[in-house]
Amino acid sequence: MSQNLTKLIEVSRHYGKDKTFVIAGGGNTSFKDENHIWIKASGVSLETIDMDGFVCLSRSNLKVVSTKTYSQESSKREAEVKADLAFAIVSEGNNRPSVETSLHEIIDFKYVVHTHPTLVNAVMCSNNGERVCSELFGDQSLFIPYTDPGYILFKKVEHEIKLFTTKFGKAPQIIFLENHGVFVAADNISEIHSLYASIIEKISSKTKFILPADDTKPFSSLIIDKIQELHPGFETFTASGVESPLIHHFAKDYNSFLKANTAFTPDDIVYCKAHYLYLPACSGENEQIESAVISFADFFSKYSYIPKVLVVEGKGVIAVEDSIKAVLNVLEVYMNILKISFLSENFGGPKFMTNAQIEFIDNWEVENYRRKMAKS
Ligand SMILES: [Zn+2]
Repeated sequence: MSQNLTKLIEVSRHYGKDKTFVIAGGGNTSFKDENHIWIKASGVSLETIDMDGFVCLSRSNLKVVSTKTYSQESSKREAEVKADLAFAIVSEGNNRPSVETSLHEIIDFKYVVHTHPTLVNAVMCSNNGERVCSELFGDQSLFIPYTDPGYILFKKVEHEIKLFTTKFGKAPQIIFLENHGVFVAADNISEIHSLYASIIEKISSKTKFILPADDTKPFSSLIIDKIQELHPGFETFTASGVESPLIHHFAKDYNSFLKANTAFTPDDIVYCKAHYLYLPACSGENEQIESAVISFADFFSKYSYIPKVLVVEGKGVIAVEDSIKAVLNVLEVYMNILKISFLSENFGGPKFMTNAQIEFIDNWEVENYRRKMAKS
């Protein structure tokens, strides 16, 4: 294996194991030389990645995606793009290259490290995100307003990189994506690290409201014990409840919950779905169960799915999923939503995904594939 690929594995694991950069297996990395690009396979976790977790593609075959005209209809178009990506693969095995492969290809640096850092997303998922980026990073970075992921996002970023390069005479090494995360690019790893360090340092310097402690501890509730009785769909489900000072900040009343009641990023939807259920406090535990049964039924008739996240007023957060591993993922991602929401107050308050943006993700085959991989 070449030195460059060894370095790619190292940098992938470095950011992959750091929970402040990568939450629940998100993010992706790549290395390219003149003819080939090695990119993380979809559904593989950066934390433990080795060479088998990367897919190698021919760059000349990948260029087709930039120039070809695809179908107007989005599911058809995504299938056509997927087929062209598959055609460009030169490595063996059944791994599917990351959905962001074409995006990595057009970033004209050898290494690209894409992550979803909590602190960066506090800015990306805030009302003043774009302004804060331009104040802090000026012509050092490119800001992309939220765009549906996949081919449309790729074309948008391609266009913006061209404009940026013409304007500033250099390609951007930091690309911020609203309600998503950041791409950092360089020709060597030490520059990747120094760019990330400068991003974190600059955003930290503007952060006045500091997170309350988030070390969670379990809480007991009849709702957890009787979860299977609350809704017919819960038959095979398992639940776990936690509390912390951070959770109490959002669970103390309904208005506080409204600052964490829906998704900030496509990844939030992959793990937690887009809407969360608030259960108001009741005088006794039996009343709490009766009221929860009604709340579940209302939620189900409104969204046609069972909630994965329940926020119990004054108590804590309960995650519901079909395995312990999935429950832990839901908790990790929802805790991150709480952190982003809290920190976004430094930058004008939370900015959630819109209903139309949520709907696109819910119907997207790529994310359904990732959902499956995350569970397996
Ligand atoms: Zn991403």
